[in-house]
Amino acid sequence: MSFSDLPFDVGPVYEGERIRGNQMYVELGGPKSEFKFELCRVKPAKDIKDGNVELIGPDITDMEVGSRYPIGIYVEVAGAQLEEDLEAVFERRIHEFCNFINGVMHLNQRYTTWMRISKQLVEKGFNTLKMMGTVLIRLFKAELNIIEKAQVTLYTDPKEIKKIHKMAMDVYNARDERARGLHDEDVDMFYGCVLCQSFAPTHACAITPDRTSLCGSINWFDARAAAKVDPKGPIYEVPPGECLDLVAGHYTGVDAMIKKRSLGEIEQIYLYSGMEYPHTSCGCFEAIDFFLPEIGGHGIIDRSHDGTAINGLPFSAMANQTGGGKQMPGFNGISIQYIASPKYQQYDGGIETIVWMGKNLKDRVAEFLPADLVDKIATEEDVNDINGLQAWLEEKKHPIIETDAYKMAVGGEEEEEEEEEYGAAGAMVPMGTQTFTVPGAGGMGGFKVILKNCKIHAEAIIIKKMDGKRKK
Ligand code: SF4
Ligand code: ZN
Repeated sequence: MSFSDLPFDVGPVYEGERIRGNQMYVELGGPKSEFKFELCRVKPAKDIKDGNVELIGPDITDMEVGSRYPIGIYVEVAGAQLEEDLEAVFERRIHEFCNFINGVMHLNQRYTTWMRISKQLVEKGFNTLKMMGTVLIRLFKAELNIIEKAQVTLYTDPKEIKKIHKMAMDVYNARDERARGLHDEDVDMFYGCVLCQSFAPTHACAITPDRTSLCGSINWFDARAAAKVDPKGPIYEVPPGECLDLVAGHYTGVDAMIKKRSLGEIEQIYLYSGMEYPHTSCGCFEAIDFFLPEIGGHGIIDRSHDGTAINGLPFSAMANQTGGGKQMPGFNGISIQYIASPKYQQYDGGIETIVWMGKNLKDRVAEFLPADLVDKIATEEDVNDINGLQAWLEEKKHPIIETDAYKMAVGGEEEEEEEEEYGAAGAMVPMGTQTFTVPGAGGMGGFKVILKNCKIHAEAIIIKKMDGKRKK
């Protein structure tokens, strides 16, 4: 495979390239764009014009510098061994292959695609988006040799994209619906994925029927199909082994997998906990389950959330905290599909510990939540601070108010006893409320750190003197 006929470089070395606002020629999709998607479908060979790229809508030469357009990337493939279950796995590679182009930044997946094309790339001669389609076709056929024919249709027209966007959403929903009917105890094989190790070297996804991959794009059926056609590829079988704890979702096979794939960095995972040995998070999670120490419950914010969550942090700030392949108790990257699973963080108390959700997300998952809980979960339209949330929970009689975790968090009861118990275990220590002041240089100013009913797990604390020139 060669790209020498194209005026730019292509290769894995360009993955992870960031294109900032001032370097950007055009933005395609992203949070400010209503319509964006990427979809792959398997078709009969006779329906595919191999190598063909169509563009429906304005091209690079019609776009002004700094402008924004919707984007649809529709890849259709054919091959004797292909089956529908492989579509989602192929689709996930669109992210990687677009990022191979020097000057293209691609983030996310499915209906959250966010791309930027750099000015430099356009200056080099990238004068039509069709070149991107050509790169995709060549990479798909070279990297996945069971694909015999491929064609790509790109959409940038704000009107034309609507219909195909609806079709794509229907396909995603059908995939998710099928996966919701199957549970971890129904199968004797789990799967793993290391596609994100180029960004997060200690991260590997454990993919089980109840835990769709955190990017939301690879469910158990998809992973099974991928591992079958390419057992040595990035998606592979994970024999569950012995179940050490059914409620936590603690399997010896998953532990062995993460230990091997993280090169010993991560020792064990509880599949159904965001608080103890949580699943690692790369950066592509659809949503974040976060602990609210003041309430003893959890919130969930998704990628599309505009503004801050109930803890005062926007998605981007929490994503920095959550991602990078770390195991971060209290911040867990998840797929939206997992929220619909009956095993949702069941080790932490399950779905009834959810006290706050972003409004859009809540609307999306409402039909899968227990009917008597839906109206008790607050959103940004109901409350906007922790005090308001507490009053809301009491008024609505959210089940969290009956829990010890809540009573302890809001009332400070039983703190000392608990502190000793956890302290002896040497794991995570509920600290009660702790306040200490860190003085600034020369004894002036400084800042106060208040740790309220938090759980802290740290292997090391590094305190660095800040460079005085940096803004706060
Ligand atoms: Fe694979 Fe997980 Fe990355 Fe999705 S988030 S591509 S399943 S490693
Ligand atoms: Zn990822």
